[in-house]
Amino acid sequence: MDLSIVIPLYNEAESLPELKAWIDASLKDFSYEIIFVDDGSTDGSWEVIQQMAGPGVRGIRFRRNYGKSAALYEGFEAAQGDIVVTMDADLQDSPEEVPEMVRMIREEGYDLVSGWKQHRKDNALTKNLPSKLYNWTARKVTGIKLHDMNCGLKAYRADVVKNIEVYGEMHRYIPYLAKNAGFNKIGEKPVHHQKRKFGVSKFGMDRFVNGFLDLMSLWFLSRFGKKPMHFFGTSGILMFLIGFVMTICIVANKLYHQAHGLKFRAVTDQPLFYLALLAVVLGVMLFLAGFVGELISRSSTERNNYQIKERI
Ligand code: UDP
Ligand code: MG
Repeated sequence: MDLSIVIPLYNEAESLPELKAWIDASLKDFSYEIIFVDDGSTDGSWEVIQQMAGPGVRGIRFRRNYGKSAALYEGFEAAQGDIVVTMDADLQDSPEEVPEMVRMIREEGYDLVSGWKQHRKDNALTKNLPSKLYNWTARKVTGIKLHDMNCGLKAYRADVVKNIEVYGEMHRYIPYLAKNAGFNKIGEKPVHHQKRKFGVSKFGMDRFVNGFLDLMSLWFLSRFGKKPMHFFGTSGILMFLIGFVMTICIVANKLYHQAHGLKFRAVTDQPLFYLALLAVVLGVMLFLAGFVGELISRSSTERNNYQIKERI
């Protein structure tokens, strides 16, 4: 089979029949399956999916709402096509873009092609502007030159989705997950974007705060996840040394003044003393955090989980 179209959805009943018809009209030249993942909808989306189910249309229904990442994860597990396409269910993404994305993967050798909503049809103030800032940060942190990392419309070589694990809210950073798994030919294609026709958006402003925190976690995990001591140990030792040198200075200063009969202040009267104390305590704490981190990663079942591309 050429394609698996994975569609995560939460309360999108009105959009589904139209979406299916649109996909069918746009992908005539391919063999494909559509996998609807109903993320705990309560508006009758599942009944609509049941009616459409048949050859080439499958459905997975969650018992409750787990979030878009969970829906994508299950969709990826179920996918059988050579190329896996993800698409939002709300008719904002055009299936007409898919053939070109597939061509880029097949002919230009991309592992992953992400859509770029160049002319985004959402609220300018609450979505478009924060999204620009967010994408800029994501570009700096991940080193992946995408304008629209979180676009719902993406196409992947099947290998990619079978070798990454989307969890939590990490659907925003799938290209980064892919890059960390060693798939680094990542491309993008400008795509048409439509206004939401039915229903409401499922994400509010908190997406940007949480999204940023998730980005930090991923960055940290990819750099130091397997060697936490390299981060905490270095900063810990540095802090400790700073504090240590300060302490020596304070004590030496006092002894010198005492020995020469000069006037001197009590050690605890000096601001430097408290800074030194703080630095030493922080240093020890950072070092301990690194050590505990090493113990955790040493017993993690993931510790020797590597991506092997080929063997001969
Ligand atoms: N979605 C989901 N589970 C959720 C929230 C959203 O499966 O908990 C789906 C939603 O139905 C849609 C896609 O994720 O198909 C994108 O959501 P939405 O259109 O609300 O995001 P926006 O376009 O506003 O960024
Ligand atoms: Mg949408």
